[in-house]
Amino acid sequence: MKLVNEADVAGKKVLFRVDFNVPIEDGKVSDCTRIQAVLPTLRYLIDNQAKTIVIAHQGRPKGEGYERRYSLAPVAKALGKLIGKEVPLTHDILGYQTNEDIAAMENGDVLMLENLRFNAGEKKNDKEFVKSLAGLADIYVNDAFAAAHRAHASVSGVPELLPGYAGFLMNKELGTFERMLAVPSRPFIAVLGGSKVSDKYKVIDKLIEEVDVIIIGGAMCFMFMAAKGFSVGGSLLEKDWVEPARELLEKAAKRGAKLLLPLDFVVADKISEDAEASVCDIEAGIPDDKMGLDIGPKTAALYKQEIALGRTIFWNGPMGVFEVAPFADGTRQVATAVAMNSGAATIIGGGDSIAAVNKFGYNDLVTFISTGGGAALQLIEGKELPGVVALRGQ
Ligand code: AMP
Repeated sequence: MKLVNEADVAGKKVLFRVDFNVPIEDGKVSDCTRIQAVLPTLRYLIDNQAKTIVIAHQGRPKGEGYERRYSLAPVAKALGKLIGKEVPLTHDILGYQTNEDIAAMENGDVLMLENLRFNAGEKKNDKEFVKSLAGLADIYVNDAFAAAHRAHASVSGVPELLPGYAGFLMNKELGTFERMLAVPSRPFIAVLGGSKVSDKYKVIDKLIEEVDVIIIGGAMCFMFMAAKGFSVGGSLLEKDWVEPARELLEKAAKRGAKLLLPLDFVVADKISEDAEASVCDIEAGIPDDKMGLDIGPKTAALYKQEIALGRTIFWNGPMGVFEVAPFADGTRQVATAVAMNSGAATIIGGGDSIAAVNKFGYNDLVTFISTGGGAALQLIEGKELPGVVALRGQ
């Protein structure tokens, strides 16, 4: 994979694919983390006199043209503020006016195209759309690690037609995960939570082969608790996953990987700030009228102890419904333990774990915060990312 600093970008039109997909509130970007992450590459392009055409998507528009709520206008504004330079936004993705805007660019200028997903061709990786996009520039640079697992036009189509390079962020993300899997300092601990089992089953399966300890929390743990015969009451449980969970437990036991499950839970009958929460031991079972919404204090203490021993720690997914105060403590305790382990390489992936690390103020204390949850999980699963394959094929 060639890196952007190997390209001769001076005076060249560069299609720069980023994945911002930032939260927008009242017409303003409320969290610029993902924009900031690509600034090293963008500054490099500006300093080296490229004409940078930023391409990105935002949300899930219908793909039938402009939709105001998905416009990149607030994003172009926020980006302009961060680089101290105006970033005009084209009205269209393609077309006469876009060509004119690009033709008027000077070396070192930055222009942004409107949301690529306004055109259905983006998600379909439509040949004509790819050709038109590629036709806008001389070089392609990809910093959109978080979109690298999608075989979309601007991710895997365009680099088939243009010389493609990885940006500094893409390179750092891939390097971090590749090192983590190839040469981890041990003990290597994976802390997994959240609710979407279907996204994470294969990741757990793969991690059992790689790590020394797997710590499980979040709603995901209920498939294991059910597999072990504990009653989980009204907790979120995907019944189809109970049998596969049993297989994972067997696999972990066979391989000698320690798989830690909660000993107790914070339970309540509703998810709300004023819910009456209590602690329930798993041996006693969660009553039918209650849901397990966070790991309990005994579990948090056990997990903290284990995390303190790790030398490589990968964390994806909250331990409970951390967005709601009565169920946030387990995630806070785990975030604290990860952040306080200064002797370990600590790698955080996935929107909710990142939000938790930010919420509790630990972002400067962890080694690496990945911008890509889904892409990171697919890498760990051992899957090839189409966006990376396209760059490697250059
Ligand atoms: P995911 O998208 O799979 O990472 O899941 C993240 C979501 O899981 C967060 O919004 C949490 O509120 C939710 N979550 C975590 N633990 C639980 C739980 N015990 N019950 C219900 N939802 C949970």
